[in-house]
Amino acid sequence: MNIHEYQAKSILKGFGVAIQEGIVADTPEKAVEAAKQLNKETGTDWWVIKAQIHAGGRGKGKIVGTEQRGVALAKSLDDVKTISGNILGGTLVTLQTGEAGKQVNKILVAQDVYYPGDSEPNEFYMSVLLNRTTGRNMIMYSTEGGMDIEKVAEETPHLIFKEEVDPKVGLMPFQARKVAFNLGLSGQAFKEMAKFVTALYRAYEESDSSMFEINPVLKTSDDKIIAVDAKVSLDDSALFRHKDYIELRDKSEEDPTEVEAGENNLNYVKLDGNVGCMVNGAGLAMATMDIIKLSGGDPANFLDVGGTADAARVEQAFRIILKDPAVKAILVNIFGGIVRCDRVAQGVVDAYKNMGNIDVPIIVRLQGTNAEEAKKIIDESGLKVQSAILLQEAAERVKEVLA
Ligand code: GDP
Ligand code: MN
Repeated sequence: MNIHEYQAKSILKGFGVAIQEGIVADTPEKAVEAAKQLNKETGTDWWVIKAQIHAGGRGKGKIVGTEQRGVALAKSLDDVKTISGNILGGTLVTLQTGEAGKQVNKILVAQDVYYPGDSEPNEFYMSVLLNRTTGRNMIMYSTEGGMDIEKVAEETPHLIFKEEVDPKVGLMPFQARKVAFNLGLSGQAFKEMAKFVTALYRAYEESDSSMFEINPVLKTSDDKIIAVDAKVSLDDSALFRHKDYIELRDKSEEDPTEVEAGENNLNYVKLDGNVGCMVNGAGLAMATMDIIKLSGGDPANFLDVGGTADAARVEQAFRIILKDPAVKAILVNIFGGIVRCDRVAQGVVDAYKNMGNIDVPIIVRLQGTNAEEAKKIIDESGLKVQSAILLQEAAERVKEVLA
């Protein structure tokens, strides 16, 4: 589960990670109040207004139809009001949002931490994530902060460092110092960075996150090390251990069909193709997507209906797949192990009848227990549903209906 920058910073702060302080607001008036409050608390009289959306690249992105950036410096309370008004309610397009952009409902009013007179602010990159090859968590960091890390990885990969953590002993103090050393720090800033890294790693582990990305981590002119940006992905499977994180979810940031599927316990991921897939089991779903590709189609989604493919579930799954106007055909590929094929077939037929006017061709491939009976049920239903037993055969049918 992804969360907003302001929420991520609040979690980090709770673990003692130094952050750029800020207050969230959803109207220009509240933004001005927030700015005044920050002035009282931190003494700042410049602020940064930051659009809160689940996508990065905000500083370079623009609000549609304007020149307003998604991150902007305000040098007066009037600026705070104007910029907030420009951003709130607007649609922000960044390299990560796609052309459609994302509507901004909240902004973070933050203290300015790039003090005037700083000749060159020292921006670093730091992330904590799982190295899937070694199965260990690692801290990935770079002197090249504040910019697109993918670009750094491509052009100057030697400027990206990795520090792996042994799960038996956790992050060792020497490792935190090594990070500070490799970032070229000394004196007070060195100590502050070691502290920052230690707190950050602890926050990552104890919050059960799957990814932290802090870009930039800033060294201020008075040698403080702080998180200026924060991207945090929480591990969905661990949310039961963090009941207070559940309310951080912002469904307006998620694909509405994926939200609905989640509420129905269907594992659905929307993709860009034209062939809807309904499959039981993630592995079979992957194989099905491959075979669709091979036959010249493009999967419109990943959908795992799970172990209980009864009529009600099949119907829910159909409804969800059909919400996508790009779907030109549906391939149902179910392996009947525990759930018998004839029951699934009956489910498909019942769902089809229930839903009335489905005008998208459906190809059903059922294999496993009672596959022959299932094929008979489909073939004798009188509906515009084609059956197949072999996957190859099903793929051929998909090809035909798309042609
Ligand atoms: P992103 O563009 O979505 O990654 O948003 P960031 O939070 O990283 O902000 C983008 C950029 O805004 C940063 O790289 C900084 O250069 C700049 N920025 C962030 N905070 C401040 C601040 O307090 N003062 C100034 N002057 N610039 C800031
Ligand atoms: Mn950033």
